[in-house]
Amino acid sequence: MSFESLGLAPALLRALAEQGYTQPTPIQAGAIPLVLEGHDLLAAAQTGTGKTAAFALPLLQHLSTAGATQTRRPRALVLTPTRELAAQVHDNLRGYSKHLRVSSTTIFGGVGMGPQIQALRRGVDVVIATPGRLIDHMQQRSVDLSGVEVLVLDEADRMLDMGFLPAIKRILTAVPKQRQTLLFSATFAEPIKALAMQFMRSPREVSVTPPNTVAPLVTHHVHPVDASRKRDLLLHVLSQDSRRQSLVFSRTKHGADKLVKFLEASGMRAAAIHGNKSQNARTKALGDFKNGRVTVLVATDIAARGIDIDQLPMVINHDLPMVAEDYVHRIGRTGRAGSEGMAVSLVSHEESGLLRDIRKLLKQEIEITAVEGFEPSAPLRLDAGAPRPVQGQRQPRAPRNGGHAGHGGNHGQNRNVAANAGRNNRRPRRGGSASRPETRG
Ligand code: AMP
Repeated sequence: MSFESLGLAPALLRALAEQGYTQPTPIQAGAIPLVLEGHDLLAAAQTGTGKTAAFALPLLQHLSTAGATQTRRPRALVLTPTRELAAQVHDNLRGYSKHLRVSSTTIFGGVGMGPQIQALRRGVDVVIATPGRLIDHMQQRSVDLSGVEVLVLDEADRMLDMGFLPAIKRILTAVPKQRQTLLFSATFAEPIKALAMQFMRSPREVSVTPPNTVAPLVTHHVHPVDASRKRDLLLHVLSQDSRRQSLVFSRTKHGADKLVKFLEASGMRAAAIHGNKSQNARTKALGDFKNGRVTVLVATDIAARGIDIDQLPMVINHDLPMVAEDYVHRIGRTGRAGSEGMAVSLVSHEESGLLRDIRKLLKQEIEITAVEGFEPSAPLRLDAGAPRPVQGQRQPRAPRNGGHAGHGGNHGQNRNVAANAGRNNRRPRRGGSASRPETRG
């Protein structure tokens, strides 16, 4: 299958050739003809599948051929859950539209409104926005969405997870009813279907990844370890090949910062990316990682959504995510496009229940091996009573001397942890202090 056979215009084909794309990915092959025919589209595709081009290419073709109007109102709107994803979609769009006269801009929080207002005033064809900041502009009447012909909801599942449903509904009242709507989501969970039923017209469905599966070329490794020794084990794993780039996940923003400090003090080149960082700091961290100045990028789940890093050899979970589906999103960063990837999780006894959920979801073997010198004092439990961390609770501190656990374990401690397990086995509660997970991008 070639891009030509999908019916794309020569100007787009030229841009694709310059990007080095030789053939469409499955989501592109499935989605592009349907979108070009004008259908609404419900697409199940994760990051890494080429989903951005799957909507960006037909969208650009529509804008360049369907009679350019004299209006300065945006003709296409792409909603994304995070600033990073908005910036990345914008970059991709600019690359694909190199030989077209189509203008685009991003609208997201964390940066001044002024330049965004000016760009909107000058007139722009495509707006790529996060819902919160777009609503700000709607309230200030600095954006007029009445000329939108194509609406894209990118990573719609994530937008719903992040509580953007009311904002999305509000935005939907501001765009014309007569429009084309394209919805991309990692899964077709019930809330996504409900959204589609309400706001789309006989959407066609395209699905390239069966829900909740990860790339088959990814191998999963779990190293059981005491929570207090995780960062030492992380350093040990990273030191196995210090030139290899790794993405490390931390459950909290505070934890991500602390890990970076620790890794830097240990001589590694590391940077953090999370929602408390300014947009500039995030862009710099990502840029440094991409150009190799930084070898370890420590991220929270939300900040990592949508960052575009190709074929990462290794993803490390310093903490397991509270929700098993997030494991799938995290691991989506490795083993892309046919290359092999490795997912390493450092799992403490208290996280046993989370590991159990992940195993159930993946329906795939995960190798559990203790690393010599880091054997845990309490084994992982994968039975129904397996403990789970309580959200907002601090992780035990690392001993100041970096003390070694020693072999053989401590049986007294073992019993204590087992006794605590039942108490810890509660539903995660909201709130907490420094170690509260990130809830917004
Ligand atoms: P996405 O899923 O949109 O985040 O895309 C993942 C990566 O695949 C991005 O770096 C794209 O530039 C790249 N990509 C998209 N389509 C193709 C293609 N047809 N051939 C090769 N790479 C592609």
